[in-house]
Amino acid sequence: MALIDTVREAERLMTICNACRYCEGHCAVFPAMEMRLAFTEGDLSYLANLCHNCGACYAHCQYAPPHEFAVNVPVTLAELRAQSYQDYTWPPQMAGVFERNGLAVSLVTAASLSLFLLATALLVDPAVLFAVHADGDFYRIIPHDVMAGLFTAVSAYVVVAFAMGFRRFWQQTGESYASFGRPRPFLQAMRDSLTLRYLDGGAGDGCTYPTEAPSQSRRVYHHLTFYGFMLCFAATSAGTIYHYVFGWQAPYGYLSVPVVLGTTGGIGLLIGPAGLLWLKHKADPDAFGHGRRGMDTGFLALLFLTSLSGLLLLVLRETSAMGVLLAVHLGIVLGLFLTLPYGKFVHAIYRFAALVRYALERSRAAERPEA
Ligand code: SF4
Ligand code: SF4
Repeated sequence: MALIDTVREAERLMTICNACRYCEGHCAVFPAMEMRLAFTEGDLSYLANLCHNCGACYAHCQYAPPHEFAVNVPVTLAELRAQSYQDYTWPPQMAGVFERNGLAVSLVTAASLSLFLLATALLVDPAVLFAVHADGDFYRIIPHDVMAGLFTAVSAYVVVAFAMGFRRFWQQTGESYASFGRPRPFLQAMRDSLTLRYLDGGAGDGCTYPTEAPSQSRRVYHHLTFYGFMLCFAATSAGTIYHYVFGWQAPYGYLSVPVVLGTTGGIGLLIGPAGLLWLKHKADPDAFGHGRRGMDTGFLALLFLTSLSGLLLLVLRETSAMGVLLAVHLGIVLGLFLTLPYGKFVHAIYRFAALVRYALERSRAAERPEA
């Protein structure tokens, strides 16, 4: 569907839903919609990013196809949301690169980086690459400063890309930057995000995804993915503190804080993305939309491979396979980082910003004197 048709369709649905209001208990989209009578493009983008495609409103809608109104909110908002990801991409030339072939682009990026690192290590000294190093000392293969410099540069690029995307999204909502930092709405949005509040389907029995039977599976897999990611981030932070504050060099023992955090997070990142990919495979595109499957699957696949290669590296770090595994793992992690601003990870930025705006609107409504 062309963008202009999608926007018109969204306006049509919002008008019907605003009159019906049956679904206001399912999620934040309907109460946010009811606060307005007209919808700017910024409003529609905001509503689309408040929606997490749970399907509850489609499953319960008496006006869904074959009814002549043909109401399908999840599909229309999924289209708008995917379009908003493209509109906010930085640099804009990257918009759409992952739209259809996201999985292939992600895998090729990771494979190319792995091969580059492998070739570099081979050229420097093949004997070192294939040697068994005491305690799995991977800095013998790629020195600490090279590794740290590489990841600092890539992380800086990713942070700038996210900041530019957020800036575009927030400007389009018409809110000031100061309002984003208001403590109460910000904390409310944090609570809603960390608990995945709206994945409970409104009644607490879970969302109707990937089938019409309510289930908590999506929430569980999402939690495993998110907290797995955060634990791996905490492991890296702990390693950085060990190195720069205490002067303790990696590799660290199996029971050290960085390794325990990384292993626990890694297990979450194996189960969570695999589960989300499985649910996506089962979901009916007519009910949930095609969205940007390439973006979604590419990101989830790289998360899974990052975790798998990281855990293998840990188990085999005292063998001659360590050098090759290190190059493969680092290539996948670099590929994951470089593609973060163009894959499904961006939904975390826009969904959170949408939740902050929703909390702001609710607090303003509560402060307004009764008429
Ligand atoms: S999705 Fe259907 S049931 Fe729900 S508010 Fe809209 S029109 Fe009503
Ligand atoms: S699909 Fe779920 S989150 Fe999206 S509008 Fe419908 S009920 Fe709300």
